[in-house]
Amino acid sequence: MVHIIGGGLAGSEAAWQAAELGAEVVIHEMRPVRKTAVHQTDGLAELVCSNSFRGDKLDNAVGLLKEEMRQLGSLVMRAADHARVPAGAALAVDRHAFSRLVTEALASHPRITIAREEIDHVPTPESGWSPVIIATGPLTSDALSADIQRLVGDEHLAFYDAISPIVLADSIDMSKVFRASRWDRNVWQAPDRAEGRSRKADYEPPSGQPAADSTSSHPPAPDRTCSHPSAPEGDYLNCPFTKDEYDAFYDALVAAESATVHDFDSVKFFEGCLPIEVMAHRGRDTLRFGPMKPVGLTDPKTGRYPYAVVQLRQDTLAGDHFSLVGFQTQIKWGDQARVLRMIPGLENAEFVRFGMVHRNTYICGPKVLEPTWQTRFRADLFFAGQVSGVEGYVESAASGLLAGRNAAALALGRTPRALPRTTAMGALAHYVARADPAHYQPSNITHGIMEPLANPPRDKARKKALIAARALDDLREWMGEAALSGR
Ligand SMILES: Cc1cc2nc3c(=O)[nH]c(=O)nc-3n(C[C@H](O)[C@H](O)[C@H](O)COP(=O)(O)OP(=O)(O)OC[C@H]3O[C@@H](n4cnc5c(N)ncnc54)[C@H](O)[C@@H]3O)c2cc1C
Repeated sequence: MVHIIGGGLAGSEAAWQAAELGAEVVIHEMRPVRKTAVHQTDGLAELVCSNSFRGDKLDNAVGLLKEEMRQLGSLVMRAADHARVPAGAALAVDRHAFSRLVTEALASHPRITIAREEIDHVPTPESGWSPVIIATGPLTSDALSADIQRLVGDEHLAFYDAISPIVLADSIDMSKVFRASRWDRNVWQAPDRAEGRSRKADYEPPSGQPAADSTSSHPPAPDRTCSHPSAPEGDYLNCPFTKDEYDAFYDALVAAESATVHDFDSVKFFEGCLPIEVMAHRGRDTLRFGPMKPVGLTDPKTGRYPYAVVQLRQDTLAGDHFSLVGFQTQIKWGDQARVLRMIPGLENAEFVRFGMVHRNTYICGPKVLEPTWQTRFRADLFFAGQVSGVEGYVESAASGLLAGRNAAALALGRTPRALPRTTAMGALAHYVARADPAHYQPSNITHGIMEPLANPPRDKARKKALIAARALDDLREWMGEAALSGR
C-alpha cells in the first residue's frame, strides 16, 4: 500500500501513477479538516496562484517537460488540457474545472482511497506505512514541518514567495485596454484539438512569471495557425501606460506599505517570482523591463508600443476573472487596491483576490534525495513536489509522477528507477539530488540543467529541437525497458 501525504499537484499525480501501475494507494489530505493560509477549496490539485502552466512548446524546457508527462499518462496534464483557457502561448486553465477533473478521477479510481486528515509526523517504518511519499507542498503544516526538520536536520529551509491579484472582468474599463498577445501570438487550442500528441509551436511572452526556459528570450516567428476563434485579437487584456501615468504609478508603488516585510534585502524570495514592489525598489525602470514590458504589444489607438503595459490574463473559462500577470505583491490590501487602481483600465477594479506573501518550505534535496525521489537514509520514504525542492506547478507534478511510479515499484516488489538526464523529468530529478547543497535554490526546469548535447549546432532553434527529440527518444526507450520488466 502506497501512502501519500498531501493531495496537491505532486500528491495527486503520484497517486494516479501508483494506482495505474497496480498499487493500492491512500492519499492523506488535511483540507478541509485543517486549512492552509492560501488554499481556498477542498479540491485536490488546487492551483493557489496563477492559473498558468507556462509555455507549451517543445523547444521550451517546460513545454518538453509537459510532453514527457503526457507520454507517461499524466493525470495533471490530461486535466489541464481539458480545462484549458485562452492564454496566448501558455497553457493556462480554469482552476476550478482543473481541480474538479483531478479530484473526480482520483475519487473514482478503484485502487485509491482519500483520507481527509492531517498527518503530524513522518510515519516510521514500524508504523506499517510503506512506502510513503511526503508531498505536502510549500505550506506543509507546522507539526509535520517540525518532524521533517528533526529528520533532515538544518537543511530544512524556508523562504518567501508572493502571489498576484485577480480582478472581476466586469470591473475593467474596456475602453482603455486593448486585446493582444505579445507579438500577435495567439496559439490557444480548443481542448478537443489539444489532445493529439504533437503540440503547436508557441512562445510564452516575457511576463514576469518564473522564466520557463533560460534560453527562450527571443520569440520565434509568429504562429497564427491555431488562434483561439473567440479571441481573434489576442488572448491578453493590456493596460497601456503613458510616461506620466507610469511615473505616478511607480511613485505610489514604492511609497505603499508592505504587509509583512519592510527590509526587502534581508528576505529570500524566489528570483523568478519577485513582488512588484521589490522589483520597483531596484530601480525606476526595472518593471518596464520585467512584467510591465511593452515590446510586442502595439496599442491600436496609437499604432505604437505604450510606455509600459500591465497584462491581464483570463483566469476562468467563463472569462469573468482576470489575473494581473507577473504582479505578485505583498502590499497591504488597502494600499494595494489604491495603487493597482492607478493602472489605466483598472480605476474601478473589484478584486476577487489580493496579492499576498506566503511561506515556502522545502528540504535541501542534494543532501536528502536520490534522483528516484527516494531519501538516501530510507529507501521507502520519498519526497515530491515543492517540499522536495522543485519550483512550480508543472515541476511539482512531474516529481510526483516519478515518485508515484517508483513507490508503486517498491510496493509491487520491483526496483525504482531514475529517468535519463537527457529528459526534462530526469534532469529535474538529477538537479534536485545532485546540485551543490551549499548554494541550493529550488529551480524551474530549464535547458541549462539538462544534459548538454555532445555537438551542439550554433543555431538556437535547431539546438532546442535536437534536445527535445533526444529527450523523447530516450523517454520512449526508458518506457520500453519499463514495460519489458513489468514496471
Ligand atoms: C502562494 C503560492 C503561490 C504560488 N504560485 C505559483 C504559481 O503561480 N505558479 C507556479 O508554477 N507555482 C506556484 N507556486 C509554487 C508551487 O508550484 C505550488 O505551491 C504547487 O501547488 C506545489 O505543488 P505541491 O503538490 O508540492 O503542493 P500543494 O499543491 O500545496 O499540495 C500540498 C497539499 O498537502 C496538504 N498538506 C499540507 N500539510 C499536510 C499534512 N501535514 N497532512 C496532510 N496534508 C497536508 C495541503 O493541504 C495541500 O493540499 C506557489 C506556491 C504558493 C504557496
